[in-house]
Amino acid sequence: MALIVHKYGGTSMGSPERIRNVAKRVAKWARAGHHMVVVPSAMSGETNRLLGLAKELAPARADDAYWRELDALAATGEQASSALLAIALQAEGMASVSYAGWQVPIRTDSAYTKARIEAIDDTRVRADLAAGRVVIVTGFQGVDALGNITTLGRGGSDTSAVAVAAAMKAAECLIYTDVDGVYTTDPRVVPEARRLHTVSFEEMLEMASMGSKVLQIRSVEFAGKYRVPLRVLSSFTPWDIDIVEEAKSGTLITFEDDEHMEQAIVSGIAFNRDEAKISVLGVPDKPGIAYQILGAVADANVEVDVIIQNISKEGKTDFSFTVNRGDFTRTLELLRTRVLPGLGAQEVVGDAKICKVSIVGIGMRSHVGIASKMFRCLSEEGINIQMISTSEIKTSVVIDEKYMELAVRALHKAFDLDQTPV
Ligand code: ASP
Ligand code: MG
Repeated sequence: MALIVHKYGGTSMGSPERIRNVAKRVAKWARAGHHMVVVPSAMSGETNRLLGLAKELAPARADDAYWRELDALAATGEQASSALLAIALQAEGMASVSYAGWQVPIRTDSAYTKARIEAIDDTRVRADLAAGRVVIVTGFQGVDALGNITTLGRGGSDTSAVAVAAAMKAAECLIYTDVDGVYTTDPRVVPEARRLHTVSFEEMLEMASMGSKVLQIRSVEFAGKYRVPLRVLSSFTPWDIDIVEEAKSGTLITFEDDEHMEQAIVSGIAFNRDEAKISVLGVPDKPGIAYQILGAVADANVEVDVIIQNISKEGKTDFSFTVNRGDFTRTLELLRTRVLPGLGAQEVVGDAKICKVSIVGIGMRSHVGIASKMFRCLSEEGINIQMISTSEIKTSVVIDEKYMELAVRALHKAFDLDQTPV
């Protein structure tokens, strides 16, 4: 008997029929002798519907008074789905109780719409488990020190589930979703993409930050920090499949020192089109330039990702970096109007039609020549590399957006990701 946390996404909770299915699956686990805590998302579309209603009443504003109400509003989606699941479990003959974040309580800071969990008091939940009840805890929400309802950011139910699992030292946290695991890359781009049986949480972190939307990135950070064994699996298997088989399905997000690790040098190809490139041309090559450019960008609260500076020719250099596409126009404007005049640079140019493609794998730490293999593969496809950045377990290139799919397919093949590792 173990303490297990299940998390069900919005699609899995999308209709009374699906909620009934979730209830039957959870009841199966409880009847197998496990202590069950379940964290559901709102029914699919519900969070958007609620936030849409707010927009109909007033244009979005950037102040706490407004954000506070958005959180109070959005949190009702999870409250409803949690109560519905408890009702469905009771109908299956399984004692069950649901708690909103503030009832547990799940304490967070006061950063409305993107709050961070600070502490979870599990006294109440443990008492229910001991009394034989399945406990449903709302995802996505908590309560701050003053009793205000907060939410954790879109997709935040993943983080709720992992945080509950960490606080209660659960044996495993199972994230049931509409995909059956983590893939070597997006199967819509590469049909030969393969489901990974295991992936290290560091690789998962890189893939999540590159837009593999399977898990909210913060949940992966949490799992890494507190060493929560995390599994992503499908909620569309029949609810009554063999529990032993089910417990082994999907993808286990594990730790590097874990013996279950699959041994591939590159585990996956990640990509995103969410960035844009900005270049400041003809900058005088002298101390303080990077600070003058990127300091102004940081002051405007714009996040910078890949950065390159060329060698100087006649005392001048070019300086390029990428930002989120959503910040592109604003950053260009800022540089042109406020930074360029004082800098003595020639001009600022931008390109939003780029994408970033990365190879990710912890095996890169101990193998040389992986990046060069990537560059060779891209050169054989005639793809020009505009920028490169590397970390211990990732090499990323910025290329023209129109080559994205070609690059992903070619790299997937070059690193044998369509082949089951031996
Ligand atoms: N319902 C919230 C959202 O749509 C949280 C979640 O589903 O994880 O973002
Ligand atoms: Mg989600």
